[in-house]
Amino acid sequence: MLQSKIALITGGSRGLGKNMALAVAKKGLNVILTYNSKKEEAQQTVKEIEALGQKAAAVQLNVGDAKSFEEFIAEVAAILKVKFSTEKFDYLVNNAGIGIHAAFAETSMADFDTLVNIHFKGPFFLTQQALPLLADGGGIINISSGLARFSLPGYAAYASMKGAMETLTKYQAKELGSRGINVNIVAPGAIETDFGGGAVRDNSQLNNFIASQTALGRVGLPDDIGGVVAFLCTDDARWITSQRIEVSGGMFI
Ligand code: NAP
Repeated sequence: MLQSKIALITGGSRGLGKNMALAVAKKGLNVILTYNSKKEEAQQTVKEIEALGQKAAAVQLNVGDAKSFEEFIAEVAAILKVKFSTEKFDYLVNNAGIGIHAAFAETSMADFDTLVNIHFKGPFFLTQQALPLLADGGGIINISSGLARFSLPGYAAYASMKGAMETLTKYQAKELGSRGINVNIVAPGAIETDFGGGAVRDNSQLNNFIASQTALGRVGLPDDIGGVVAFLCTDDARWITSQRIEVSGGMFI
């Protein structure tokens, strides 16, 4: 029997990452997902993937701590061997992240450092260190934000890191293409998750404002995103590379 392909998804315990993990599993892939603090939620995602008939494992990872990546990669290598009877995985989804809302004039160096570590340095070096475990012919999916195309007050630092990821995506696509690895970046619009304290979901004024500025007339839901990432984790998407795919329902167009 042909071995199922494997996706490694960071931040798979909740929100968009969980939705991606389940959507990927529905396409017949096995999943290694990571969590930062919410181990039980991550175990729950594992159970839901197993209920779909796929294999899954959850590993702790702080993407803001690049020094820990060597150990994390060693742990992934061991899991691949023991649980999946293989040495490589096929798709890396750099999803994990947080939001810090602060005006440009008031952004502290501490908040800037936190954001740059989680949203840029983390995915940069995690991907670099994962390269030996990433199969030739596989793919990388980075996650940006609509906020890298349009500006809303309060996201100067966060959106700048996402802009950096969009540039990095092009370089990764160019330099990894010789290994048959495609690299794309998905940019969700505002989606109802815990992100940024759950503001898009829980603040009805903000929710209504975003809906009014969105061509399809509502705010996004996790289900709007997972399937797009899952498609990019299939052979049907093999000829797509270096693309920014915005999934925002037409926000601020
Ligand atoms: P979320 O619901 O708050 O979930 C965040 C996920 O990231 C959780 O799995 C969390 O793990 C993990 N995480 C947080 N900090 C981490 C760290 N330092 N190291 C490792 N993992 C960490 O957020 P979301 O809405 O799903 O966001 C996922 C991605 O989409 C982020 O990159 C975000 O920037 C992007 N995005 C979101 C929106 C939106 O409106 N929601 C829009 C555009 C882009 P634990 O559960 O263990 O804490």
